[in-house]
Amino acid sequence: MKTALITGANRGIGLETCRQLARDGFKIVLTSRDGAKGRHAVQQLAAENLSVTHLLLDVADAQGVARFVEHLAEEDERLDVLVNNAGVALDGFDAEVARRTLDVNFYGAVRVTDAVMPLLAEDANVVMVSSGLGELSCLSRSLREQFENPVPTRRRLRELMEAFVESVAAGRHTREGWPSSAYRVSKVGLNAFTRILARELAGSGKRVNAVGPGWVQTAMGGPGATRSVEEGAAGIVWAATLPADGPTGGFFRDGRPIAW
Ligand code: NAP
Repeated sequence: MKTALITGANRGIGLETCRQLARDGFKIVLTSRDGAKGRHAVQQLAAENLSVTHLLLDVADAQGVARFVEHLAEEDERLDVLVNNAGVALDGFDAEVARRTLDVNFYGAVRVTDAVMPLLAEDANVVMVSSGLGELSCLSRSLREQFENPVPTRRRLRELMEAFVESVAAGRHTREGWPSSAYRVSKVGLNAFTRILARELAGSGKRVNAVGPGWVQTAMGGPGATRSVEEGAAGIVWAATLPADGPTGGFFRDGRPIAW
């Protein structure tokens, strides 16, 4: 039986991804930062005859992530799928919001991916739940070049992310070509990390892709969103179940490539 680990899975797109993968026969490790919310999600799935394992995981807690992976290793867990879904869209915009947003949406995914890497199966699929709002078109031309031509190193990507926070703190982010949205920049960073990781994993048998779920009716997307949670999760499940000769290093919506 194949095993899938999903972050931020107590509600919304993450929970629905667990549901669809469980129906496809995966063993599910449903993770949440809050114990009660995670248990409630497990009960919801149990009522549909879907049995999943729940573990606590706050992607913003570096030590917690390390402990979590130690626990998985002790249990001899092997992961065929990792879905980095946990995300926040915080109210307001200042350096503090920028820092907290990056810590979950960008650094959280980097942290969890790097920590679980030794536990990933040879042909594992890693999925980054990104957003069309992270398209490079939200940046000035000069910044866009730095994210794209060539794809930055890990170190350079971190420098760019830190430069954004500093720039917001100093009140010069607009002048320097950044959008007034920490969420957008966090997903730009996540997309760049996807391409960096794809380069690192080339030839390993593992694939990594970013998926934009579209505008989805969840707590984050709101009731006015145009897509159901089932539709949003389906594109993630597609990327999570790609075959050995499937694409890697791409950005997809509904299984079709979209622009970085
Ligand atoms: P959601 O209903 O707000 O769910 C977000 C999930 O992430 C919640 O389970 C939340 O846990 C969890 N989370 C937040 N911070 C976390 C942390 N530090 N550690 C672990 N889990 C954490 O939103 P959603 O729409 O399902 O979003 C899922 C993903 O899709 C996000 O990455 C989002 O950016 C992306 N996305 C959504 C849309 C949309 O229209 N909905 C569009 C594009 C991309 P709590 O319940 O404890 O807060």
